[in-house]
Amino acid sequence: MDKPPKKPGKGIRIRTVNYGMIFISCLLYILLISATISASKNYQSLVKTTDEYIACQEYAAQIADGSNYLTEQIRLYVLTLEPEYADAYFTEAYTNKRREKALESLEQYHHSSPEAFEYLQSALNYSNQLMAREIYAIKLAALSQGTDMGKFPLNVQELELNEEDRRLSPEEMTAKARKIIFDDSYQDSKALIASNINFFVSNTIDNTRNEQQASVAGLRQTMKRQQIFISILFILNLITFIMVIILIVKPLQLYINCIKEEKQLEITGAYEFRYLALTYNDIYEIKASHEALLRHRAEHDPLTGIINRGAFEQMREFFKVNPCPLALLIIDVDKFKLVNDGYGHEAGDQILKKVAALIKDSFRAKDYPARIGGDEFAVIVTEVTQEMKATILDKANRMNEILSHPTDSLPPVSLSIGGAFSSQGFSDDLYSKADQALYLVKEHGRCGCRFYEDGPSDVSE
Ligand code: GH3
Ligand code: MG
Repeated sequence: MDKPPKKPGKGIRIRTVNYGMIFISCLLYILLISATISASKNYQSLVKTTDEYIACQEYAAQIADGSNYLTEQIRLYVLTLEPEYADAYFTEAYTNKRREKALESLEQYHHSSPEAFEYLQSALNYSNQLMAREIYAIKLAALSQGTDMGKFPLNVQELELNEEDRRLSPEEMTAKARKIIFDDSYQDSKALIASNINFFVSNTIDNTRNEQQASVAGLRQTMKRQQIFISILFILNLITFIMVIILIVKPLQLYINCIKEEKQLEITGAYEFRYLALTYNDIYEIKASHEALLRHRAEHDPLTGIINRGAFEQMREFFKVNPCPLALLIIDVDKFKLVNDGYGHEAGDQILKKVAALIKDSFRAKDYPARIGGDEFAVIVTEVTQEMKATILDKANRMNEILSHPTDSLPPVSLSIGGAFSSQGFSDDLYSKADQALYLVKEHGRCGCRFYEDGPSDVSE
């Protein structure tokens, strides 16, 4: 039955992190762009306010200049009675019209500061009122000189002097004309025009300052927002780098090392890596168990389950290069052919299994029993001294005792055992010494154990 699939646990999914990062980044970019647009609007508003302020200053100066120019020309005319000054006056008043044009241009800024605009309107009204006085003064001065009125504009021609002034002498008319444009009332009106223009200017300055402050405050706020968004983006970038290291780079390095060392992968990092590790580990386990099975089959005898001749040869090579004290026993079943012949091959196999199990049980875990031939076994007994001979003999006698008196349905058998000791590992002649000892047991009636001592003739029992 298939094992239920293992789950990769609580790892963070790279896909989720990616989508999250893309979403947050897009959101931040949108916020950043909107903050940039807002900053640009604030900047444009700042520029517009400044431009408006400059324009208002210029037009206010034009109105003041226009008014002062008219005053200057009328005064020159009345004082000198030179007609060119009257011409200059009329050109300014009816052709150039600096004051009216300036006010007209200022109409477009009317919405931003209606109150300031009213001051300017009043200044122009006062200026126009002054013009009425000035034209009366021109008429008086012109009449005092007997000037031809045909050169003057229609409104001057049609202007009627009052009863009292008509009766004045030319000198008195000149004097009256001068009085009209120099007296306190004229000066007061001039002062009113100037103060209205000043009110307009200071009001404009106040408005401009307020608007600039609002724009600058908005600009500061959006710049602060931009800084915050950029900082978050920077932190997000850092988090991304750190997550890439934790979730991807580190597990990759770890996995490469594990694969190089042929180890299972650690379940770590992102969900995808955990999943990969689990899949790899499953395949690794299957492969390892196959390998273990193959190795076991290669090293073990299929009938008895103990190690086979090939593995015994490897052990022999191992103990050749590791010179520790050991003993080699070669064990052969006596007259085994007769068992096969008398009880059948199947019974022979059962005997071999029984003998192998008995040998295995009789020795320690640190000894190595092996089946090295048909009915031939070997045991490498480790960590031995010559004093252990008796123990080994006891084990041999006990095994023969058990096999001679079977409690199962199998026939009785016996074992012949030849042994040899070595204090320097598996020496080259160890096998032949043990074999010679075995041969002597066989020669001397079988069912026994002998050790090779100093020579084949001197074998102890
Ligand atoms: P000796 O006392 O001199 O050893 O006499 P023996 O009859 O045991 O002679 P030998 O050891 O040469 O015979 C071994 C026999 O073991 C020969 C063979 O038929 C038998 N044999 C070998 N492998 C197997 C096996 O796997 N199963 C069985 N049942 N018999 C085997
Ligand atoms: Mg035999």
